[in-house]
Formats: sequence, C-alpha cells, structure tokens
Amino acid sequence: MTKVLKFGGSSVADATAISRVLDIVEAEASSGKVILVCSAISGCTDALLSGAAESLERIRSRHLRIIGRLFTGEQREAAQKDIESLFAEMSAAPEAEKVTFGEIFSTRIIARKLSCEGFRTVWTDSRECVVKGDIPETYSRIRRAVSGDADIFVAPGFIASNPDGSVTTLGRGGSDYSAALYAAAVGADSVDIWTDVPGIMTANPKKAPLAKTVPLMSYSAALRMADGGAKVLYPPTVAPAREAGIGIRILNTFDPAAGGTLVSGEDCVPGWVGLADSEDGVITIVGGGEEDPADYVERAAETLRRSGIQPLSSEPSGCDLVIRVSPGILKEAVKVLHREFFEAAPVRNIRLFIAGAGAVASALLETVRKSAGLVAERTGKRLIVCGIASSKLSLVDKGGLPPEEAISALEESGDSLPFVEKVLQEEGEGAFFVDCTDSHTIYKDYERLLEKGFGVVSSNRRSFAVPFVSYAAIKAASLRSGSPLRYETTVGAALPVLESISRSTNSSDEIISIEAVVSCTLNRILSEYRAEESFSSLVKKAWEDGLTERDPRIDLGGRDALRKLLILAREAGLALEEQDVAIEPVTGGSLEGLDIEGVFAALEEREEYFAGLYHDASSRGLKLRFTATLERGAEPAIRLKAVDSRHPAYHLRGTENAIIIRSAFHPYPLVISGAGEGPGEAASSLLNDILK
Ligand code: ASP
Ligand code: MG
Repeated sequence: MTKVLKFGGSSVADATAISRVLDIVEAEASSGKVILVCSAISGCTDALLSGAAESLERIRSRHLRIIGRLFTGEQREAAQKDIESLFAEMSAAPEAEKVTFGEIFSTRIIARKLSCEGFRTVWTDSRECVVKGDIPETYSRIRRAVSGDADIFVAPGFIASNPDGSVTTLGRGGSDYSAALYAAAVGADSVDIWTDVPGIMTANPKKAPLAKTVPLMSYSAALRMADGGAKVLYPPTVAPAREAGIGIRILNTFDPAAGGTLVSGEDCVPGWVGLADSEDGVITIVGGGEEDPADYVERAAETLRRSGIQPLSSEPSGCDLVIRVSPGILKEAVKVLHREFFEAAPVRNIRLFIAGAGAVASALLETVRKSAGLVAERTGKRLIVCGIASSKLSLVDKGGLPPEEAISALEESGDSLPFVEKVLQEEGEGAFFVDCTDSHTIYKDYERLLEKGFGVVSSNRRSFAVPFVSYAAIKAASLRSGSPLRYETTVGAALPVLESISRSTNSSDEIISIEAVVSCTLNRILSEYRAEESFSSLVKKAWEDGLTERDPRIDLGGRDALRKLLILAREAGLALEEQDVAIEPVTGGSLEGLDIEGVFAALEEREEYFAGLYHDASSRGLKLRFTATLERGAEPAIRLKAVDSRHPAYHLRGTENAIIIRSAFHPYPLVISGAGEGPGEAASSLLNDILK
C-alpha cells in the first residue's frame, strides 16, 4: 500500500511548518510506504527566477535557519554543508536551470530530517524519473526508483527532464502534477495534496466569507473550478489521477483533522458545486449536473441586479453558468451570487408598495437599489418593489420592479385605478405599504391595510396630525392586527426622535417637557438671516429650493411645526389636538387670501418688523429659533423664541433640527439634533422603519 503525499511551499515555509509536515508523514508511514513530494519553500521559486542577489541571499539564510532549528551537532553541520554546496551548484548552473533548485533544497533537508528520525528514507531525484511529455517512460522510471526497500521516498516536485535529458520544470504550481505522476505510476491508493487552504471551496473566501469546503467533487468539476480561476489544484494534476482512478485529496496542513476535498469519480454531484472567479470579471458557477443551468441564467442575473450590479452577460456553458461583470465589482458580485447559490440561510422577501412618486419616493427607490446587497447580508431581508403610485397613476407588479425603473414603469404602464385597492388584493404578510405622499386623506386607508397584514411605514406627517380619534384608531388597528405601523420619518426625518420618546414613555419614565426646533424651513431662514438680506428673499429661496411646503405659509404660519408637535405629544401619551396649541406665526401679520407672489410681496413690506426682531435679539447675544414647546402645566405653544448660547438650539445650522426632551428619570435633558430634512434622510429613515 503506497501513499503519495504532497506539501506545497507554505507547508514547508519554515522549521515550524516542516515539523507539522513531519508529524503528518510519520503518522502515514506507520501504515505503509510513503512517497513524499514537496515544493520549494514559499517564495523560493520566485527568488530563483528573479535572480536578484538580495533575494537569493535571503533564501539561503532561510534554509540555514531551518537547518539550525531542525538539526543539532554533526547533522547540522552536514546539512549546512549540503545546502552550501547545492547553492554553489545552483550559482554555477545555466540560467534556465537555477529555478529547479528550490525543490532540491527543501527535499534534501526534509529527507535528512526523516532519516535522523529513524525512517529508512531515500531521496529520489525527479529530474531522473519524470520525463516531460513521456508518460510511459516516466511511469517506468518512477517504479524503478521507488521499488527499493524504504519507508519514505522523498521527491522534489516541479522538476523534471526533457526527453533529451536536459533539466526542466512542469510549470508554476507543477508539484501537484509531480505528485499525481508518482501516484499513477505506482498505483497509489490516493494522492494527498497538503496545502494552506481547507480544500476546494464553494468560492474564494476572501470574496465570499461564508464559503465552505466542498467535501466531494468529480474530476471534471475540479477542472472546471480550476479553469474558472479557483487556484487550489494545478489543473494538469487531474489527468493522471483520473486515468489511474486515483482520488485526489486536498487537505490543510494547518488543520490536518478537517476533511478537505476529495476529487474523485465521474459521477455528477447534483446541484451546484462551487463558484470560481477570474480577475477579468468572469464568474463560473460550476454545476454538478442534473440541474439545467439554462434555468438559472435569469436567476443569476436578477440576483445581481437586485444588488445594483448590472451583469454584462449571463449564460449557460455545459453544466456551468458563466456570468460576466465588470472587474471593479467582481468581489461584490461573487459575494452576492455565492449567497444566492450556496448559502443555506433563506433570505426573506419584503415586498414594498410605495405610495408617492416624488422626491422622497425616488430617494427611497435609490436607497433600496444601492443598499439591497448590504441589507440582505445584514438582515437576511430582500427588498422587492411590487407597486408604486403617483397621485394619478398606480402600478402593481407581483414579480417586482427594478427600483431604478419603477417610476418609468409607472409612467409607461400605470393606470388610474386606486392604488390602495390594488394593493389590498395582494398578500399583506411580509409586505409594507410605504406612504411617501403628503396626502391628507390617505390615512383613512391605513386601517384596512394594517388589518390585511400590511405593515405601514410613513413619512407623511399629515396622517398622524389628524384628529386624535382618527390617530387612535390607526394605532389600535396596528395593535389589533399585529401589523407594524412606523412613522419615525415624520419628525426630524432620520433623527431617532419618536423612538426616544416612546422608549421613555414605555418604560414609564415621565416626560416633563419637549422642546422641538423642527421647522427646517424656518431654521434655515433664521440661521441665515442677518437683517442685511431681506427676510422675504430668504423665504423665496427656501421655496424655490423646494424646502418649504408647496405653500410656504404652512411653514411660516407654524402648521408644519404644529403637525410635528402633535405627533411628538401623542407619542408621549398626550391626546393633543390642534386647537390646544397657541401659535404665533412668523409672518408679522395675516397672509390670508394671497397668491404666492402676494405672499412674498407682503413679507417684503414687513422687512422692518423682521429686522427689528433680529436686532433686538442679537443686541442681547441671543438667536431667534422657531420653537414648539410642550410642558407640563403650560399651554403648548409654537412661537419665535430668543435663545442664549447655553440653549441646545443656539448652535443649529441650516436645516438642522433639535429636540430637547426632559424626563423625570433624568437630571439632564436628552438632546437629539442633526439633519432634519431632505429626501435622502427621509429615505434612509423609511428604510430603517421597514427593516426594524
Ligand atoms: N515551487 C513551484 C512554484 O512555486 C512549484 C510548486 O510549488 O508547485 O511554482
Ligand atoms: Mg502550489
């Protein structure tokens, strides 16, 4: 019974690694004859090829260090002498032959060590037995060379001779092939390729961290993995083993107990075997047969698209699936495809029905497109846009719309049927109705959606600033049905405001006051206003930038702040109604009955009033902030407040918001501040609510 064991360069890189090799070889030698084939120590072949004096010197001293660690006394001296004379021989050798010495250095040291350990060891010169291109001659020479009476034959991999007797190599990585030739020649039980990876894996673990070792693989699948770019096994190795019916085991020197991969047999293993990739962006998903890869072409392409990757092509090739992507996104593509084809964890589909096709909806679609891969990886959830509607058109597509095409699909094939009715025809479980509109009637549909099992996620604050009974009814529907209702976006966009309030309320902490500087429009205008530029021009600019509501009076008159205050108060458990709040608008008088130009003109006439407010505050070192306050024992109010530099809202810039919450449990207020506006912030907040 003969075994062939082959160890690669990193398995013999230093004395510690070599000791591991010795342990493995000695264990195997106890049950039969061993042919040990080794590579040069790692980096050696490259150094010999470069020929640079420095690299050669480094290689020489690494070998001497290995000897110093492995041997003592006379043996050390003898080994040193041997290596020094081999180095001299190498220096004198013709340029083309220098590269063949790496395997001679390593195997000579290992053979000496094994004989020191008491094994009958024979160093076998592969230059004499492996004849490149002549298999029958190679086999008969190998048989002769290892026929002797020994426990272990130690042979250099990689090196061979040409039929004319000149020395050559079997190509980079060729030691695997040497091992297969030795194994086939003697009819070994198996050839064990010991390396520094756990076997052939379902993907390169540097690209797909959840890649697993494939325990069993046919010769043909192993070749296709190698062709595809999985560089574990040197491809020519397969032919001799396959012809002789010898299994190739790939094992990890650094984890000898792990099973590794057995490459053997012609039988196809049903299902997908593994995924190989090459630097130029070609990904091969190797199939074991049975499944028709043509059926999966679209699945692969679709998987990538969902993660925002546009494949260049996706097509079957024999048992395999070949997908091309641009090389820059190869790593991401491998990860995504590996997850789809090889990672068992089922991904849960979350279907989205998006009401609204304006800035927030567009930003949400873009966020879904961009973050799909990450979301799936972090949460195991896959977001699928199954419907979208504007105020005029609606579209539902069970199969899912690519996020980047959803709006154009709506324009092309939407119809005027009511969106909610269409959505209600669908399965509610695992689906969210996402309200990105500013409709003041849509809240009436929430209850039915919730009852049918749809989650409702909303950025539409009007839905929650409705009369308290309606608000309470929506909340009750969510509780009753168990369907989530989330609207964190309605106040302070992505800032975790409502969550902070409900946390306090739910933990029976009592909220003493909430001070909210939440009007982005007024925050920006007030933080820019210096009474040099006119107040009305700043309002106009905010309006032109789309920062104000369509009617800027909603902001100036405090309605927007009022809606936010109602939501905040209700979250804190107060049944606040609109009429309970005293509002002092920032208009300096009534703006009723005016058209938009009239509004700007009226503001223009009041410039002196605004300048007066500003100068009065700034002369006292104060800043004006439009503040909504809710305080125990006081009337809820929305008004301009002059704050000093100790106030958290003093330093707000641009459209920043600040919410200051004082509660009974905490001596200091909780201050939440940051960007409170913008479609991007709204979209990320909606996504958070969807994924919660
Ligand atoms: N030492 C050679 C190389 O680095 C052969 C081998 O390691 O398989 O390519
Ligand atoms: Mg190798």
